[in-house]
Amino acid sequence: MTPRGWAVLTLGGLVLALLVASIVLVPWSRPPAPRADQVAALGELPVDQVAHAREFRSALRPGAYGALVAGLLVALLLGLTPLGARLVELAGRPFGGHWTARAVLGGLAVVLLADLLTLPFAAWRQSVLTRYGLSTHGWSGWAVDLLKSYAVSAVIGAIALLGFYTVTRLAPRWWWAFGAAGAAGLVVLLSFVLPVLVEPVFNRFTPMEQGPLRTELMAMAARDGVPVRDVLVADASRRTKAVNAYVSGLGPTRRVVVYDTLLREATPAEVTSVVAHELGHAKDRDVWTGTLTGALGAALAVVALYLLGSWGPLLRLAGVDSVAEPRAFPLLIALVAVAGLVAAPAQALISRRVEARADAHALALTGDPATFEAMQRRLAGVNLADPDPPRWEYLWSASHPSTVERMAAARAYAREAGR
Ligand SMILES: [Zn+2]
Repeated sequence: MTPRGWAVLTLGGLVLALLVASIVLVPWSRPPAPRADQVAALGELPVDQVAHAREFRSALRPGAYGALVAGLLVALLLGLTPLGARLVELAGRPFGGHWTARAVLGGLAVVLLADLLTLPFAAWRQSVLTRYGLSTHGWSGWAVDLLKSYAVSAVIGAIALLGFYTVTRLAPRWWWAFGAAGAAGLVVLLSFVLPVLVEPVFNRFTPMEQGPLRTELMAMAARDGVPVRDVLVADASRRTKAVNAYVSGLGPTRRVVVYDTLLREATPAEVTSVVAHELGHAKDRDVWTGTLTGALGAALAVVALYLLGSWGPLLRLAGVDSVAEPRAFPLLIALVAVAGLVAAPAQALISRRVEARADAHALALTGDPATFEAMQRRLAGVNLADPDPPRWEYLWSASHPSTVERMAAARAYAREAGR
């Protein structure tokens, strides 16, 4: 069999593996939150709070969709015309067009150009956040964060670009196989190292101070059978008023993180409710699920790019001879951008199912639906979330169930548990 035949076979295997993983690992069978409870919950929220949140979300929308469209247009313009290939050549020229310069500098130049062209939309977003009082760090803090995130992307991007184009040179017929394995490996590696290498670039993390709340949280984790060494507090307040918590990392780098804003805004019982949700993620190995599906998706993308990239008309559009050369990087970016757009609703759907399971875990672990509901109300109030967002936006991009869905889930739980 030819390398191409093997690639088709591998692609089929990866699609199947991804399907099986999402069927087995994603909690599909959970009943939806009753709509009647959602409507009732919405009716009980202060009218002016809902109106204010909706106004805020509408103000964000032009920037968000502008960035989406501009990003896509730039990717298509660079990838489906010879412009991108020329940009890569240009970036390599000071180094005599050496392939490493084209691979790394050319690749970074393409990404940087796309970033710069979508920068006005990012600034728009920041101005809206400031106007509505959610952002606290001002334009200089915003700019520093932006530069930091460019730097982090440049380091990770340079490693990935150099690795990828080394492989395409060393194994011109089988690069897709090594590339797929490498991409999957990179996803797993990043899951391990992001919390210890990247997150500290943006925030300071300190162990939660000793006291009744920490004792209560550690006792709850022990009761839940989730080994948690510590609950970390992130200094999010230097950037935002928004409240949040999350779990990240794998094995030795796993951590539960709460924003300092959450500790400031919420009651201890509400913080407990939030941490119970995060323990649900830890207990159900949701970071592993995300890492595994991410790794399979990355491998699948490399093989699909190889197969698509041997299609003549596409190569002619981009003005390149082979998809495996650095000059074809903009074409890869264009294909990935389109694929990302298509995959977004599926990713959001999976994320919502996983989040709903963590909510159910929190309700069962705390046995306190009233506090859970109060916390959802507070989250929506502080973060200016639309409690019942437009359906299309929800399906397209919502990573979490809506506020009214989460409140309704608490009410359904309360009925069943007789509380
Ligand atoms: Zn969650």
